[in-house]
Amino acid sequence: MKVGFVGWRGMVGSVLRERMAAENDHRFFESVFFSTSDAGGEAPRVAGGAPTLRDAHDLAALSACDAIVSCQGGEYTQEIHPRLRAAGWRGYWIDAASSLRMRDDAVIILDPVNRSGIEAGIRGGVRDFIGGNCTVSLMLLALDGLVKADLVEWVSSMTYQAASGAGAQNMRELLVQMGHLHDAARDGLADPQASILEIDRNVTQALRGGDLPRTHFGVPLAGSLIPWIDKDLGNGMSREEWKGGAEANKILGRPAMGREGALLVDGLCVRVGAMRCHSQALTIKLKRDVAIEEIEGLMAGANRWVRVVPNRREDSMVRLSPAAVSGTLEVPIGRLRKLAMGGEYLSAFTVGDQLLWGAAEPLRRMVRILVGNLE
Ligand code: NAP
Repeated sequence: MKVGFVGWRGMVGSVLRERMAAENDHRFFESVFFSTSDAGGEAPRVAGGAPTLRDAHDLAALSACDAIVSCQGGEYTQEIHPRLRAAGWRGYWIDAASSLRMRDDAVIILDPVNRSGIEAGIRGGVRDFIGGNCTVSLMLLALDGLVKADLVEWVSSMTYQAASGAGAQNMRELLVQMGHLHDAARDGLADPQASILEIDRNVTQALRGGDLPRTHFGVPLAGSLIPWIDKDLGNGMSREEWKGGAEANKILGRPAMGREGALLVDGLCVRVGAMRCHSQALTIKLKRDVAIEEIEGLMAGANRWVRVVPNRREDSMVRLSPAAVSGTLEVPIGRLRKLAMGGEYLSAFTVGDQLLWGAAEPLRRMVRILVGNLE
């Protein structure tokens, strides 16, 4: 099998390459690397890899691949995918971009949750396999055990999403904003006698001042937050919030939101100053009152990556944060307790690396499924 990689140099693509190297994936297929900017340049060295970069707009070279993995972005997908299909290419298109996700002839890939749907898709002739929205994928991995046990009536998810979801430039801007705020507080911090209110006034002034770099976010994120992610759908909902319900049901193979049998998922999506881990506070309405111990058991046994964190202060502070989870494939879920509304109302808090399970990991695992040797 020949697999083409487009967008391997970007942020998601780089994480994908790290993971493929760690799992020694390239030994299972022939690899061809493409570029939109450096055709003819040197390709990354991998087992069974072509030495030279091919042009990512060369339809003939792309068509020679049995599968193409793209982390190049939605514009590239929209330009190239239809032309390849129109030219009769029947290979597998595996994509991190959202453009094709909700199409009827595409499957959203999150194999610990929907492996059987993916396999059924392959057997049924599906050729487009698309990574899900990061927040949705991480929530479904965390709630896998409860959903499999058919215990969930609805989920309200309040998110705390990292800067990385907006792109590499946004991560840089967050850090520059942090530095700018620190500069505003520097003198006050150096003087132990300085009034904290004076320091705060300087920081607030810097937050509101025109000098704070905000080209990418448009507003301050450091020292603040942004309660809107992605486009405004015009009905009070952000596109990121819409994805929660739409994609979750598609991944689970359930009817669409609003139809009988759908899992109701809704909430607010908020950007915070974390680097690459999304967190979510969940309110879960269970179909019946189930003991916390049973809930923890179902969650912990659902897949290899979920980790149930005991609902204690120390454990929650140390294990249930972006600082603890960043760069790992683990998806901890904790703060599990019944809410005052009644025994069917469960709270939870979960954290996950949005560049790993939220973006790159499902893609590499899809390639391994296609070559027939995912562990
Ligand atoms: P990105 O970092 O902007 O990379 C995309 C492409 O930009 C690269 O493949 C590269 O193409 C080109 N590029 C130009 N200058 C570059 C530079 N200085 N360093 C690296 N690459 C550079 O995009 P991304 O954030 O990885 O996102 C890729 C796709 O994944 C998007 O569709 C996005 O929506 C989706 N996605 C993103 C996330 C996320 O958290 N960011 C999560 C899930 C899905 P050439 O090598 O061809 O020049």
